[in-house]
Amino acid sequence: MDNHSTQAGTATAGRSVAIVGAGITGLTAAFRLHQAGIPITIYEASHRVGGVIQSLRQGSYLAEFGPNSLLETSTRITDLLRDAGLEPRLLHSDPAAENRYLVRWRRPVRMPTSPPGFFTCELFSWRAKLALLREPFLPRRTDPAEESVADFVLRRLNREFLDYAINP
Ligand SMILES: Cc1cc2nc3c(=O)[nH]c(=O)nc-3n(C[C@H](O)[C@H](O)[C@H](O)COP(=O)(O)OP(=O)(O)OC[C@H]3O[C@@H](n4cnc5c(N)ncnc54)[C@H](O)[C@@H]3O)c2cc1C
Repeated sequence: MDNHSTQAGTATAGRSVAIVGAGITGLTAAFRLHQAGIPITIYEASHRVGGVIQSLRQGSYLAEFGPNSLLETSTRITDLLRDAGLEPRLLHSDPAAENRYLVRWRRPVRMPTSPPGFFTCELFSWRAKLALLREPFLPRRTDPAEESVADFVLRRLNREFLDYAINP
């Protein structure tokens, strides 16, 4: 594996905390440890930091390959944004962008924004809508084996739901 490492913090008897992965989790841990004066070494397998977070600016467009928004559901998030000096760079969602679209049938199709809207929208077939109505009545699984989120959705709903509701 092509591991790159970055060292920060003050050296204490040559020891540092090893952080594996420079995604947001590793970088946040590194930032907080660095703030506390604890030496760190970050190991990252890829050639870039950020993990699944990747932004592309092209002309006046900003495209996100992974996460595109965050909810400040915890004061820890607010604190991190402030401490990292990112507050002035926050982009608040534009109310005009309330409508969201998914590409299906090679064109953008509007996503439902409310539970009733799910049943009237074009995005999902009647098969998917019926699968959602039927879901609460399906029996629980008794097999204790591990199950992925995808397998869970396929078992209780269907492939269309997985591809156009869960995956996005
Ligand atoms: C398409 C998509 C959309 C999302 N949308 C949102 C959203 O809108 N809002 C939101 O809050 N969350 C969203 N999420 C979830 C959020 O992005 C992730 O939970 C978060 O970014 C994960 O960060 P992480 O650092 O834990 O993992 P990752 O980002 O996966 O980073 C892990 C890093 O570790 C490295 N690594 C792995 N193994 C090794 C190794 N052995 N040695 C060295 N390095 C290694 C990897 O290369 C990678 O850089 C989305 C996720 C995806 C995939």
